[in-house]
Amino acid sequence: MRKTKIVSTLGPASNNLQVLRNMMAAGVSVVRLNFSHGTAEEKKVLVNTIRNAAKAENKIVGILADLQGPKIRISKFKEGKINLREGATFVLDAALPKDAGDETMVGIDYKELPQDVSSGDILLLDDGRLVLAVTKVENTRIICEVKVGGTLSNNKGINRQFGGLSAGALTPKDHEDLKTALSLNVDYIAISFVRSKADVEEAKDLIAKEKNQAGVIAKIERIESMVPETLREIIAASDGIMVARGDLGVEIGEAEVPEAQKFIIECAHDLNKPVITATQMMETMIHNVIPTRAEISDVANAILDGTDAVMLSAETATGDHPALVIQTMDKVCLATEKQPRFLSTARILENHQGQSIDEIIAMASTCVAKNSNITAVVVVTSTGNTALLASRSHATAPIFGLSSNTLALGKMTLFSNVYPLEFDIVNLASHDIPQTAVQKIKESGFVVAGDIVAVVSDQSSNGSAKLLTILVVT
Ligand code: PEP
Repeated sequence: MRKTKIVSTLGPASNNLQVLRNMMAAGVSVVRLNFSHGTAEEKKVLVNTIRNAAKAENKIVGILADLQGPKIRISKFKEGKINLREGATFVLDAALPKDAGDETMVGIDYKELPQDVSSGDILLLDDGRLVLAVTKVENTRIICEVKVGGTLSNNKGINRQFGGLSAGALTPKDHEDLKTALSLNVDYIAISFVRSKADVEEAKDLIAKEKNQAGVIAKIERIESMVPETLREIIAASDGIMVARGDLGVEIGEAEVPEAQKFIIECAHDLNKPVITATQMMETMIHNVIPTRAEISDVANAILDGTDAVMLSAETATGDHPALVIQTMDKVCLATEKQPRFLSTARILENHQGQSIDEIIAMASTCVAKNSNITAVVVVTSTGNTALLASRSHATAPIFGLSSNTLALGKMTLFSNVYPLEFDIVNLASHDIPQTAVQKIKESGFVVAGDIVAVVSDQSSNGSAKLLTILVVT
């Protein structure tokens, strides 16, 4: 069983039932809906298709709605794309109509950009593939010289090198998209370009107002969020984070990304939060049938850094082989998880101070599993939180998160080494739960008679007393 989770972005290459079924069979844990593209109606149809595919494959697959945030994008070109020549003048014009771009100018969706940049600034297009130097700003027009040219197509992103743009994390479009995502009962909402914990708190307030409990994933991609104190506050306020290496690389410089990734993952571990490592992990598999050795190493190294999940973007959204890329990533994860180095990256339980009852019992369950012949840890949970805490210590035994709460099941799809299973405890007395839970995982084929299992369950309805039961499967 693979411990590392795979998040896969959907797009034109994967928005249909059969491809989704193939991707789920190949091992997708969470699907990511990119709200930078498409309409609310399209998202509704897609979520329906995802749920049908998961049902047909008998899998629990999480859904992550990724809000666009204040990502600055160019608008469209009359011909769909242009070729930018090095040395040419190119104008970004906030007043230009949406579809009127040509070889000399294009519109932008963030109308405040002309106020945020000045002569000498470097603007990077399409994750830094094309480079513009600002020579002058005249009202709505940013006049640039092309430093690095190439093909530029509709809606590509723009970043200012070294960050510093004034936009807040949640735009009016994000407010609308958030409502759409919540109405579709997604498990996680990802907030782009988070600057501080206030952005996360704003999203949480909006979610609470809609009487929803979706988790908030803060995307770490802004230079401001890399200040250690700010980063820790953002992580503490979130339900998980994403190392969004595309924009982060543009903001802090690509060469700084590997160290930033390690630091972000370390902080998240410290604060008991799950982490997704994202962007360009299997980039060449957009067209190729095998990854490069460098891509294989990148996925493996993210796992050795301690990431919960690895993410695919264009590889599955627009690529030629959505299911194959997942199969390939699955193999890399499994090979990495076999190595002694993987286990040595786990939290050293002896050095960690448990804070809450949930954390103490979670640590106890994985500690006994580590130091005995226990084959599985079973956590009966209403929110998924105790399963998350158990997963922080990279137990050798798999952790089964049993819940009757659909949202808790969806949230657990992201946690390393946690396998969510639907389990109804409604008519069970608390002393009957451990035995019944073990029967459930036996019926699902994960344990056999004679195996020893550790079960964490509630002993009181308000969570103030927890039970750790060690059972032999009968
Ligand atoms: C990133 O920048 O790495 C990222 C994941 O964000 P997006 O794909 O939304 O630009």
